[in-house]
Amino acid sequence: MINFLDLKSLNDRYVTEALDFFTHFLNDGQYILGNEVNMFESEFARYCGTKHCIGVGNGLDALTLILRGYNITEGDEVIVPGNTYIATILAITATGAKPIIIEPNEDTYNLDVELIEGSITSSTKAILLVHLYGRGVEMEQLWLLAQKYQLKIIEDAAQAHGAKLSGRRVGSLGDAAAFSFYPGKNLGAFGDGGAITTDDTGLASRIKALRNYGSQIKYLNREKGVNSRLDEIQAGLLRLKLPYLDEDNAKRREIARYYCKHIQNPNLVLPNFPDDEESHVWHLFVIRVEKRQDFQAYMNANGVSTLVHYPIAPHKQEAYVELNDLRLPLTELLAEQVVSLPLYPVMTREQIEHVVTTANQYKG
Ligand SMILES: *Cc1c(COP(=O)(O)O)cnc(C)c1O
Repeated sequence: MINFLDLKSLNDRYVTEALDFFTHFLNDGQYILGNEVNMFESEFARYCGTKHCIGVGNGLDALTLILRGYNITEGDEVIVPGNTYIATILAITATGAKPIIIEPNEDTYNLDVELIEGSITSSTKAILLVHLYGRGVEMEQLWLLAQKYQLKIIEDAAQAHGAKLSGRRVGSLGDAAAFSFYPGKNLGAFGDGGAITTDDTGLASRIKALRNYGSQIKYLNREKGVNSRLDEIQAGLLRLKLPYLDEDNAKRREIARYYCKHIQNPNLVLPNFPDDEESHVWHLFVIRVEKRQDFQAYMNANGVSTLVHYPIAPHKQEAYVELNDLRLPLTELLAEQVVSLPLYPVMTREQIEHVVTTANQYKG
């Protein structure tokens, strides 16, 4: 059976270094916001090409703290694509602001930039874009709109660590970016983790306080913060993995290129492989198929696990009854048809070829 993702094999590559780290960690005796978090923050900021990085507990908190850091609150509106993981929307509603959900572009699955201007009102404060499945969003038009209407641009970069557009990394493309280090992400911790990257020094300093009870000087609390700190152990392990991220992303790209070239089946709609190849880090290889259940059962019976990202759009979730009447035909169609094939850096040639052959023999 080809697993959808084989985290154990992925992380087995770091076992020796991880054991050395643990010895050092136990000797060091610093547990919260110590040297490892500090070092990871500066290394990840350098990697992304930003002035600042702030490590937090997870990707959802990273998003929420950016929005709070920009004073986005009740009465404000944030424009966001409808085909995303629910965390993107949860961050907005956690601040009391209203998500203004728009459709994606059918070729890139990223937010349809053409639909943004028509959704802007006097309450719009930000555009929260998602580099979905690892594909970087083209920023040029977004920046023009942001300048014209005085909006913040916030990146949900949870799926796109390392993607590069015009020589700049995701994480440095907007005013601020949120990353997740959930184990399955392109840069994954051995537990939960997240970070914010930004060049905005004011925002960075505010989020440093917000993640730590609203305090930068111990027992002096300027505002009502939260406890959401990147764990020292996770930071140490992320430091081991960061130097291999580009190599891993290159392997993902090779597999994606192979799938795009060799999967040929009229029943399957493949993602388009961007000319600007570095703009995509292939967190997920998402195809579309009309009879998805059949396809998944067929693949499974032939030794290939698949998953769906995501089967129910956030606006159709029970958690968002207030949004259930929204009509987003493309987002809803994608939720019905998308299915992800296994794609991760330690897949063997045999496994990759088996995925291709099996997909090609699907009868529809
Ligand atoms: C994973 C993910 C998140 C949330 O990250 P957590 O660390 O799980 O909180 C947010 N947005 C997107 C697009 C994600 O894929």
